[in-house]
Amino acid sequence: MEEKGILIVISGFSGAGKGTLVKGLLRRYDEYALSVSMTTRSPRPGEQEGVEYFFTDRERFEEVIAKGGLVEYAQYCGNYYGTPRAYVEDQLAAGKNVILEIEIQGALKVKEKFPETLLLFVTPPSVAELRRRLTDRGTEDPQVIAKRLARAAEESEGVEAYDYIVVNDKLEECVEEVHFLVAAARRAPVRRSELIREIRAELNHFAKGVQ
Ligand code: 5GP
Repeated sequence: MEEKGILIVISGFSGAGKGTLVKGLLRRYDEYALSVSMTTRSPRPGEQEGVEYFFTDRERFEEVIAKGGLVEYAQYCGNYYGTPRAYVEDQLAAGKNVILEIEIQGALKVKEKFPETLLLFVTPPSVAELRRRLTDRGTEDPQVIAKRLARAAEESEGVEAYDYIVVNDKLEECVEEVHFLVAAARRAPVRRSELIREIRAELNHFAKGVQ
């Protein structure tokens, strides 16, 4: 039987290396599709419209919310971020594992709407390393970095809501670990309901024949 794709949320502190991790997965395996979010934050140098994000203003974002065009949305450090619905639905229907790289409030909303979603939380090996990665990125001023670290402290309180925590130390190993966790998750009964239904129907058919 054809296996359906699953919805995967990847969250993690700003600077945890989620973006690089996801790029690694997409490069190595063609069973994944990445949802591109909509945001009101300004593009960082080098970021392209429709690649990292769909950049927009608050008015337009609120219009899309009102139309029900987002699977979820949240405010993060003063900006809106949201997941466009159409792409997610199309890719799941095409059998892809769809990755949402989103923060914790959005993750919890997705889990509520789609309980079979796999929630992964990515963290760097230490807080010192997290600070270093944020500073080395060189795209944010110290005030923004401080805000993001404060937000990380808040987010750390919600980690227990996730299915697995992945430590992003060596990138290649981390990519393999996530791929392995996804493969395992796809075998959980909660994500194999069709298979279970088919097996039960066949067994019941035979059982009836015996009576
Ligand atoms: P950044 O500004 O660093 O690109 O993203 C800030 C945070 O917003 C990150 O934790 C990122 O995962 C999260 N984020 C990005 N897109 C979305 C989205 O569509 N929905 C939600 N809830 N969070 C998002």
